[in-house]
Formats: sequence, C-alpha cells, structure tokens
Amino acid sequence: MSKTTTANQADAAAGSDVVTSICQAILRRQRFLLTSHARPDGDTIGSQLAMAYALEALGKQVKLVNADAAPDHYREFPGVDRIEIAERSDAEADALIVMECSDLSRTGVAGLDGHFIINIDHHAGNRMYGALNWFDESAAACGEMVFDVIRALGVPLSREIATHIYLAILTDTGSFHHSNITPRTFDICRQAVEAGVNPAAMARRVFDSNSFGKLKLIGALLDAMELIDNGRLAVLYLDEGMLETCGCTHNDTEGVINLPLTAREIQAVVFFKAGATGEVRVSMRSKYDVDVRAVANAYGGGGHKNAAGFTVAGQLAEVRPQIIERLVTAVREGLKSRP
Ligand code: AMP
Ligand code: MN
Repeated sequence: MSKTTTANQADAAAGSDVVTSICQAILRRQRFLLTSHARPDGDTIGSQLAMAYALEALGKQVKLVNADAAPDHYREFPGVDRIEIAERSDAEADALIVMECSDLSRTGVAGLDGHFIINIDHHAGNRMYGALNWFDESAAACGEMVFDVIRALGVPLSREIATHIYLAILTDTGSFHHSNITPRTFDICRQAVEAGVNPAAMARRVFDSNSFGKLKLIGALLDAMELIDNGRLAVLYLDEGMLETCGCTHNDTEGVINLPLTAREIQAVVFFKAGATGEVRVSMRSKYDVDVRAVANAYGGGGHKNAAGFTVAGQLAEVRPQIIERLVTAVREGLKSRP
C-alpha cells in the first residue's frame, strides 16, 4: 500500500490517512533503522534524532546510520554520537525510516533497498520509493512532519525531541528567512519552547559557534566573491587551498552561503566547490520568489525554492557559464513578483 498527501492536505497532516498508516506500521514493529541524506544538515540530524527518541519512548529498538558525519556544531546535540557513519548498512530491522530524501540514493548508504521503507520527506520530486510514502512539499522542514508523526504516536515532547524538532526548523528555514514558513511552523516551535527549548541558546549553538579558522575562511570567501547582474547574483568559490590556508575542513563551509544574502541588493547566491574528483558541488540560496530549485533540477539536483543544490561533472570553467546564465534568468523572473 502506498499513500501520499499533497501540499493542500498539509494542515490536516496529523490526522491524515498516511500519518495513521505510518503510526500503525511503527506500532506493529520493534526494530528500526533511521537514515537521512548524505552531508547532513540540521533538518537531517534533527528529524532523525527526534524520531529516534520518540521510538525509544515507545520501547522500540533504534539504530541510526548516515553516510557522513554531522558538521561539528551539531555534534554536541543529544544522540548525535549514536549515528553510525557508514557507506553500507546490513543492519537488521523491521522497518527503515528515511527522512529528508527525495530518492533512496540521496542517503549515500548502500544496502538499504530490502527493507520495509517508510519515506517521510518535503523535497519536491520525491520518488515515492517506500512501502509508505508521506511527501509534503509545504513543510518548512522535514522536522515539521516528524513532529506530526510523533504527536500522532502519542509520544510526549521530551526536551530531547523538542530540541531536535526545533533544530530541524531553525536550520531548514534558514533561521526563519525562507518563504515556506507558516503558522504551523511557529505553532510547532511554540510547543518545542514550552517543552524546554531555549531559542537564544539554540541560535547561539547553531550559528555562533564558529572556529577562528572558519571566520578566516568566511573572510577569504567573501573577499573573492563575485557580483553579477548589477549585484543581484553573488558567486562564491571554494578550492581546497583555501581550506588549508585557514585550517578548515569542508564542514566549515556550512552556512557561509547565507552571508551574501544579507546585502540588500543580492537576490541569489551560488557557491561553487570544486573538488579534486573532476566534479563541482553547487549550492544555491535565494530570496522571496527567486526559484533556485528550478536551476538545480536542470542538473539532476533538487531542494527548495530558496535553497537547492546539485553536483555536476566537469571543470568549473566549463560548467560555470551556463549555471550563471540560468541563475540570472531565475533572479529576473523572481523579481517580477517581489513583495
Ligand atoms: P545544500 O546547498 O547542499 O545545503 O542543499 C540545499 C537543499 O537542496 C537541501 O534541502 C538539500 O537537501 C537539497 N539538495 C542539495 N543537493 C541535492 C541533490 N543533489 N539532489 C536533491 N536535493 C539536493
Ligand atoms: Mn529539509
């Protein structure tokens, strides 16, 4: 059986058929494997661990696996050290819950296909690869959906669960900047705060825990920033040499992409990270109706209107012009409906 909801059913999510089916499937099973997408972000970690604590509150056995380690500033959040980092998992489980992944391959973990899969995601273009699929593009974070499942399971919001739900929302909304924030977002945050989350401490832990090396890296990246289309598009470039000079790792690039958007004129940012592998990793962010997901889709990537990404084969100099052209078009289109 495979059921889905659409965006306009989202408000009824907690009572919807698919949430009920997911709850029934969870209650009938004992051993769970939880995973999410490679190169984890706050929504990945938050959704996964909120679900883990909720299942454990029901007496279930939970294992967690991800392809990549969490960025440093998430490591001190409860349970993060329990996530196994592996390219493959042969863990036995009665169900695999995949959160935040439009496709099973987004996990970057091999060996997961044979499981009974529960797919919970908010990325457009979800492939409905589960036995149960809940896809809600209107959710500002996958953590909002996980919250609905936890509530429908009747699990009280412990401080750990509330912390992870809040982490998911705080980060996936770009600290409440993106355009998919709704009353539901704040209602969930209100409940998280009532359950003991301290918003100031969360913001400090997530956004104000940079190393000095990262500050240097930010300086170097912004110094080399290029402005295009009368300053409406900002372009950032990272090469391995910069990381070395600043004593940083790839993890330290997290969040840097949002900084150019603090300039009034800049409507979109693209961040090119050229690796040694002959591939370029491309991350994009935008304001209001500038749709960077459409650009990501053209290269087989994905994401959301205001935050999307993809990886493309080739040298930066070859792939760059077309990507920039598409982004300039997206910026001009998006500005037409600027509030
Ligand atoms: P990033 O720029 O890596 O922070 O990604 C921004 C958003 O786009 C996140 O929601 C990602 O999950 C999504 N995203 C990034 N890369 C891909 C991809 N290759 N396929 C699908 N979604 C992606
Ligand atoms: Mn997300």
